[in-house]
Amino acid sequence: MNDHDPLTPDTTPLPTGGKPPKVVVVPLLAVWKWQSLAACRDMDTSVFFSPPGERGSARRHRESTARAVCAACPVRTQCARFAVACGQRYGVWGGLTEADRRSLAPTDPVGRPVARTPGGSGERSSRTP
Ligand code: SF4
Repeated sequence: MNDHDPLTPDTTPLPTGGKPPKVVVVPLLAVWKWQSLAACRDMDTSVFFSPPGERGSARRHRESTARAVCAACPVRTQCARFAVACGQRYGVWGGLTEADRRSLAPTDPVGRPVARTPGGSGERSSRTP
């Protein structure tokens, strides 16, 4: 199996001349295997995603509950990296709240968010775990 991190662009130069490069097919199940180990796998997603209009102490309480679940999750690092890499705008992922991820997001010199990778459309995620 290919052990290349799917969240990191593969910058290996393609061979020139001769035969076309061999295509390596990585089963999707292998790429997303970490999600099967998620502590939140069978939980109600309302712990991780805010209802419309949630503010103040209700939001802090929900995020604190989600963070506690994430703190004990064996795939926390993978989850957080995924969320940051694809620009997940909503929910708690890997113990990072929406505000946490915004503070980590790359910006241009004027402070505007820079373009994200495909798939980071900002739409509410159909979270698997
Ligand atoms: S770290 Fe990610 S996968 Fe683990 S419990 Fe938190 S949100 Fe779920």
